[in-house]
Amino acid sequence: MVGAGAAGLWAAGVCAAAGARTLVIEKTPRTGTKVLASGGTRCNLTTTLGPREAAKLFGPSAARFLTPAFLALPPAAVRARFHALGVPTKTEEALEKVFPVSDSARQVRDALERHARANGAEFLFNQGVRGVRRTEAGWSVSIPAGTVHCDKLLLCVGGKSYPKTGTTGDGYAWLRALKLHVVDPVPALVPLVSSAAWVHELTGVSLDAEARIGTSRRRRPTLFTHVGLSGPAPMDVSVHVSRSSGPVDVLLDLLPDHTWEDLRGLLIDAAGRRGGPHIAGLLPLPRRLIEAVCVQAGLAPNPRAFDLSKASRHRLVETLKGLPVPITGTTGFKKAEVTAGGLQLASVDRKTMEVRGHAGLYVFGELLDLTGPIGGLNFQAAFATAELAGRHATRAE
Ligand SMILES: Cc1cc2nc3c(=O)[nH]c(=O)nc-3n(C[C@H](O)[C@H](O)[C@H](O)COP(=O)(O)OP(=O)(O)OC[C@H]3O[C@@H](n4cnc5c(N)ncnc54)[C@H](O)[C@@H]3O)c2cc1C
Repeated sequence: MVGAGAAGLWAAGVCAAAGARTLVIEKTPRTGTKVLASGGTRCNLTTTLGPREAAKLFGPSAARFLTPAFLALPPAAVRARFHALGVPTKTEEALEKVFPVSDSARQVRDALERHARANGAEFLFNQGVRGVRRTEAGWSVSIPAGTVHCDKLLLCVGGKSYPKTGTTGDGYAWLRALKLHVVDPVPALVPLVSSAAWVHELTGVSLDAEARIGTSRRRRPTLFTHVGLSGPAPMDVSVHVSRSSGPVDVLLDLLPDHTWEDLRGLLIDAAGRRGGPHIAGLLPLPRRLIEAVCVQAGLAPNPRAFDLSKASRHRLVETLKGLPVPITGTTGFKKAEVTAGGLQLASVDRKTMEVRGHAGLYVFGELLDLTGPIGGLNFQAAFATAELAGRHATRAE
């Protein structure tokens, strides 16, 4: 196996527990570097959602691909497995997240490594794989220390985000050399960059908003930063910024619990009172944000409702329900939690993770063209695809 990240550790446990001789080759001096950094070092290891709901969040074709893996290892089974490994979990229901009770990503990583080792898996560190090749007997893997031969080769070297953690996109070249199609890797779950001064002036403002780009939308916490936008909602739609050829507007629904009609009614009511309230006194939003919204709607920073014409009321509601934030790009792979793109899903048998036309080669985890939103979904995908690969690579022929 190549890669001792989330997927590699999980698969190593499955393979070793099935009695297979298991060697994990890892480029860095340790296992699970990204697991250690995950969830602000708390490790959001899976989701409270059911398997089908969780798979849906990856988009239609990825959901179809992931469903067998998520049914084979549903989120609840991930939690049960961690519990059996001595890592009880707890939930943060509002955002459907699951964490270890200890809030310790290290405990998660250690439990996975301990389980794999206890079943006989061996690890080779500081060995960056240079290439893989098909041989008559199976597969060979070229490493600085020489060549390793194996019957079954499991590749889980991740993507190219957070390259400091060891993931520099090495696997893509190996797959291309095998004439496999790699969907162009781009940064995902990444903060968004804006060059608009009014956006920077809102640094520190945070709220529960719905971010939209095209048909993609996600309601989650949203944060204005000195760079642009961050937080789960903007980051969840960031892949569309990465894939767009130029600047785009991200639309923010700043009051997702209020309909257009609610807001229009509120403004009309308040407008009936001469000398009545200013807009900032009417809406449950930070004053700085309301002032910016009014200006973006072409109004004075904080007018009285009474002073708004019908047209300006309409523009204000329109801006509150879809504030256009001009975005020039993302902060790139360096700050991306995951990589979108990777081995195209059509090349892989979704029930086994074996690569079509390449018997004995299994690809899973983030190296596949799969990206879920924030919320433990990406570990869920890494673990579930690793489970299938491990089970099938070790099954009796
Ligand atoms: C800061 C941060 C926080 C995150 N938080 C969460 C979270 O809370 N919940 C969640 O679900 N997801 C989270 N993610 C995403 C999650 O970490 C990844 O989706 C997941 O780790 C992917 O697992 P993987 O095993 O496929 O790849 P990785 O975990 O990236 O592992 C790949 C491994 O392969 C090794 N490798 C690479 N190239 C070679 C080579 N040439 N030879 C040998 N080994 C090699 C790497 O060193 C690495 O150890 C976070 C990501 C980041 C960056």
